[in-house]
Amino acid sequence: LVARMRPFGTTIFAEMSALAVRTGAVNLGQGFPDTDGPPEMLAAAAEALRTGHNQYPPGPGIPALRAAVAAHQRRFWGLAYDPDDEIVVTAGATEAIAASILALCEPGDEVVCFEPYYDSYAASIALAGAVRRPVTLRPAAGGRYAFDPAELRAAFGPRTRLVLLNSPHNPTGKVFTPDELALVAELCRERDAYAVTDEVYEHLVFPDAAAPHVPLATLPGMRERTLRISSAGKTFSCTGWKVGWVSGPAPLVAAVLRVKQFLTFVNAGPLQPAVAVALALPDAYFAEFAEGMRRRRDQLVHGLTDAGFEVLAPEGTYFVTADVTALGGRDGVEFCRSLPERCGVVAVPTQVFYDDTEAGRRLVRFAFCKRPEVLTEAVARLRRLK
Ligand code: PMP
Ligand code: GLN
Repeated sequence: LVARMRPFGTTIFAEMSALAVRTGAVNLGQGFPDTDGPPEMLAAAAEALRTGHNQYPPGPGIPALRAAVAAHQRRFWGLAYDPDDEIVVTAGATEAIAASILALCEPGDEVVCFEPYYDSYAASIALAGAVRRPVTLRPAAGGRYAFDPAELRAAFGPRTRLVLLNSPHNPTGKVFTPDELALVAELCRERDAYAVTDEVYEHLVFPDAAAPHVPLATLPGMRERTLRISSAGKTFSCTGWKVGWVSGPAPLVAAVLRVKQFLTFVNAGPLQPAVAVALALPDAYFAEFAEGMRRRRDQLVHGLTDAGFEVLAPEGTYFVTADVTALGGRDGVEFCRSLPERCGVVAVPTQVFYDDTEAGRRLVRFAFCKRPEVLTEAVARLRRLK
């Protein structure tokens, strides 16, 4: 194995889901819903399979899906992208992130990102031979996560090529505020850096969040330097489909497409018309999806609090983090490895998403994208820890 990939072992999600299967535990580790997405979307996929949409689709994605992605971004965020040359369909957000970094970074270039970061970020940066410059998110006043603006400013330097921003943020559930976004944008403009935004949780922001979701590309001077990424997996509860997309100015999207051609060439043909149907669903679908997840969040936040965890309530995503100190935990990795045996529940240690492992030492993450009765059972089991 090449040196640049040696630091990366099995992903924590694979490890923890395997542990859940082996022990029969309730799996609140890996983030995937336990119910299917909109029936219109599922029917459209079945229809496409039956009616001969089973050969290579066009490299950038089928025109109907690119048009639907454009219409969706215009409807919800007021962002206009030309479906012909400003949108490319990818194998989930994961490929979009990798292809964007590979397209923009020379070896030695620096990528500013916020830790804890989604696990593919560090690996994609390493594959490009680039260097990550993490800025640490820490639990702060009011149970929110925050970063030190001076630390962000210091992370930007002459080798900064891009900032990789995930908001709403996995695993913390943080939604970046307008002030925080303004600072990121200011530094990008000052340093002439690109931004790659991971907005897969764009429809999962709860009403009590400090601010609604604002795409970084909507800030002054940012559209022309931002690759905006999302995917169908979260919004339409189809994480196994791996249909994602990148939107941005034509030259940047062309660069991503150049790389993407040789990673996967094209993506799942019959699923693309189905995701186009889903993106065109009425506003009520998106509102009900978020409201259903808000109820689940509240259920799990209350349950974890009752069970003795010190909970950091999320403003978005379908994850909640908690400190295990009050339950006698000293290390999140140890805590999560023993949890299935102790009480039959799987969670994910947040520590593995930090370079500064000390900052995340005692934090663990639970996914609440599960049926209410599954959350009830998980909470009943977790209460045995006390
Ligand atoms: N980014 C973040 C922040 C995620 O949580 C996920 C989903 N686990 C992804 C990217 C990957 O999305 P996809 O499954 O569409 O590749
Ligand atoms: N995004 C999901 C999570 O954070 C799962 C991703 C994966 O399994 N690679 O749990």
